[in-house]
Amino acid sequence: MRKYVIMGVQGSGKGTQSQLLAADLDLVHVSVGDIFRWNVQRHTKMGAQVRRIMAAGELVGDDLVESVISERLAWHDWNYGFIVDGFPRNRPQAEFFLESYDIDGVIHLDMPDSEVRRRVLNRRMCANCGINYNLLDSTPSPPGQCDACAGELVPREDDTEEALAVRLRDYHEKTNPVLDLFRRKEYVVTVDARPAPEVTPTIRPDPAVTMSGSASARTFR
Ligand code: ADP
Ligand code: ZN
Repeated sequence: MRKYVIMGVQGSGKGTQSQLLAADLDLVHVSVGDIFRWNVQRHTKMGAQVRRIMAAGELVGDDLVESVISERLAWHDWNYGFIVDGFPRNRPQAEFFLESYDIDGVIHLDMPDSEVRRRVLNRRMCANCGINYNLLDSTPSPPGQCDACAGELVPREDDTEEALAVRLRDYHEKTNPVLDLFRRKEYVVTVDARPAPEVTPTIRPDPAVTMSGSASARTFR
């Protein structure tokens, strides 16, 4: 049983890396952002609650985020463990998490803000199936269309200059202290996220080729 947390600024490739690691080690991938986006796309009540907050790049309230995490983990479908992506992002969330679960490691994807901007502003998402693309690393053919389902590629609503500035500020102010807390417990392995192609289609041809993510996977073998 392995219980991991993956942390890193937006655009550092958390989603891609955790999916690779999850596939590799048979872990359940729990992404709070994905759960929220799923709800926004399907116009659920929760979607309505979080949509504007997300679009502005702000953090959703701790109560809601914590209940999403606990309810998802309460499925107990994670026989080999889980990797939690995008949580915890501030101290109260970290304390909540540590009270309920022991964790085996924290993967920290390290990336400078300048690179984050470049990546995030070139990120596109399939409006139909949700796969991420990064126009810097790969151009889907035909351009503007999802390779997997031919859906339309659109920017994420929160991948704007303004929302990005808010998210970076929050990351430095609120999430960095969580990393420090985890570091003191010696959970943290830092991986240089720059060489990794952030999301090229998440459907990967060959994990060994695609990834420095295997760097993080290897670290935990
Ligand atoms: P990114 O890492 O690019 O910001 P995520 O997919 O992790 O993207 O999250 C998208 C949005 O969902 C966040 O900007 C925030 O509004 C909300 N969210 C995700 N995780 C959390 C969390 N732990 N606490 C509060 N809000 C969150
Ligand atoms: Zn698609």
